Order: sequence, then structure tokens, then C-alpha cells
Amino acid sequence: MTTIGFIGLGVMGAPMAANLVGAGYDVIGYNRSRGRVDALVAKGGRAASSVAEAVRGAEVVITMLPDSPDVEQVVMGEDGVLHHAQAGTLLVDASTIRPDVSRAIAQACRARGVRALDAPVSGGEAGAIEGTLSIMVGGDPADFDAAHEVLRAVGSTIVHVGPAGAGQTVKAANQLIVAGTLELLAEALVFLSAHGVDLASAVEVLGGGLAGSAVLQRKAPAMLDRRFEPGFRVDLHHKDLGIVLDAARAAGVAIPLGAHVADLLASLRAQGGGQLDHSALLLQVEKLSGEDNELAPNRAASR
Ligand code: NAD
Repeated sequence: MTTIGFIGLGVMGAPMAANLVGAGYDVIGYNRSRGRVDALVAKGGRAASSVAEAVRGAEVVITMLPDSPDVEQVVMGEDGVLHHAQAGTLLVDASTIRPDVSRAIAQACRARGVRALDAPVSGGEAGAIEGTLSIMVGGDPADFDAAHEVLRAVGSTIVHVGPAGAGQTVKAANQLIVAGTLELLAEALVFLSAHGVDLASAVEVLGGGLAGSAVLQRKAPAMLDRRFEPGFRVDLHHKDLGIVLDAARAAGVAIPLGAHVADLLASLRAQGGGQLDHSALLLQVEKLSGEDNELAPNRAASR
């Protein structure tokens, strides 16, 4: 039985680790807050109380952490993954981080005889629970082949997109598309509402035409119900659009609409919406259109 060390059991990591347990893998989970480790144990996983414990004896290590500095610290830091991993271990970083950081991690891994893949995912919490994530993988093709069976337990579309860092570049493009689509969906809902159109009927028919999308299908129902608990936090999408803007600038590419939506997300965050689901862009558009809504009372909480 393959032993998998899983580090980062948050919104995405917890259901992914549970699906790996369900697929028959021996999963040792570690998270900064212990409650999340206990939840995995209740589902049949094993507990680690440090990175070292999660990594020792694991053939595969999966990280699902918030941001680039978190992955750098957990993998390359003192007492990190590279300090404890046996040679030949396969490190699969599923977090969304900067492509240049993924490349640096892959290089550090190579120097220690550890194989590394960047394998960011798309599909949200629902996709993680269902095990239907879309996974964009950068790294050595042989390492991709070795990881494929494990990735099948958490995703249904799994594609090797190039060398180290390429998975993150594709994920950056994914986040650009999702943010832009979500903003336009929010604008459409405010527009329809102002015209007194029944929103549920409008969403149903829009979903069947060219305006239909996974974003509309997955996000519109909660937006209509005004449920903005994450899901995918504004803070994380703000982080991702920072990655997109930097990467676009480095390549000399203009992304005018993406830059504009990045600004709108930054503003939503500055107004206190950082901990809300990114579909709270709806609240922002409402405010821009002169409506009073529930965004302001969250200000203190997310600072
Ligand atoms: P999250 O904040 O819910 O989970 C991250 C987990 O990592 C938390 O439980 C936290 O306690 C833990 N953690 C942080 N630092 C740690 C450390 N040093 N050691 C051990 N544990 C640590 O975030 P999430 O929503 O699960 O997202 C994780 C990554 O996946 C992010 O990069 C995000 O951008 C990406 N992502 C999220 C979604 C989504 O819909 N939520 C979808 C696709 C990709």
C-alpha cells in the first residue's frame, strides 16, 4: 500500500485527503491546527504532529497550503519536507503558488534526490469533495506517470502541461478566467435585478446558452441565496491575481481586463470582504450601483 503524507488539511486538502483514504491509500495527515488532523483520523487516515512525522516513510508527499511562502517554508525550511524525505520520494504540490517558486522548489528537490511536481487544481470545494478536480501538472513526464494513479483519486481531468512551473502558469490563466467570469456574472445579476427580472429563471436560461459556464452553474445559486461563506476566499483569489499580474508583466503580456478585476478584488478585500467567498464580488457591484448591503459589517472581521 502506498503511504501518502498529506500536509495542509483546509477547505481543499481535507476532502482530497479523505478521497485518498477512500481509494485505499495509507494517508498520514498534518495540519497546523490539530482539529483538522483529528477529522482526517475519523475518516480512516493517520495523524502526524509535525511535517517530519507526515513525511518519514511516505513514498508520496502532497502539500495543499495557502501561498508561496507557506510551501517554501514547509518544503525547504528548517525541519521541512526536504529535511526528512527519503530519496525517490515524490512531492506533489497541489497549492496555487508562483511559477518561479515552483521551479525553485523543483530544483531544491532534485538536489536532494526528491522528485517534484507542481499540480495545482481547479474545481473548488465541490470538486475536491466529489474527487472531480481538474489538475494541471508541471514537471518531469516520468514523475507525472508515477503520480497519475494517486491523482486519479482526487481528480478526473489530469493533464501534464510542461516542465516544472508550467502547472502553476496554467493555473494562473485559470484564475484569470474565473475572476473575469465571476465579475461579469455579478454585474449581470445586479443588472437583471434592477430591471425586475426573476433571477432564477434568468440564470436557468443563461446557463443553457453561450453565456453558460461552470462558474455560472456552480456560483450563481449561492449568489442568489446570498450565501458568501467560502468556498474560495477573496484573500486567496487576490493572491492568485497577484501571481497572474506578475507573470504577465514578466512575459511582456497585457491583460487589461484581468488587471481591472484584480483591482476590484483588492478593493473588495480592503472593504472587509477578504474572508468571504469570491462570489461576494456581487456585493461589490451592488455597492458600486448605490445599494446598501451586508459587506460593510464584515470589515472588522477580515482585517
Ligand atoms: P485553506 O486556508 O482552507 O487551507 C490551508 C490549510 O493549510 C489550513 O488548514 C492551514 O491550517 C494549513 N496550513 C497553513 N500553513 C501550514 C503549515 N505551515 N503547516 C501545516 N499546515 C498549514 O485553503 P484552501 O482553500 O484549502 O486552499 C489551499 C490552496 O489551494 C491555496 O493555494 C488555494 O489558492 C488553492 N485552491 C483553493 C480552492 C478553493 O476553492 N478553496 C480551489 C483551488 C485551489
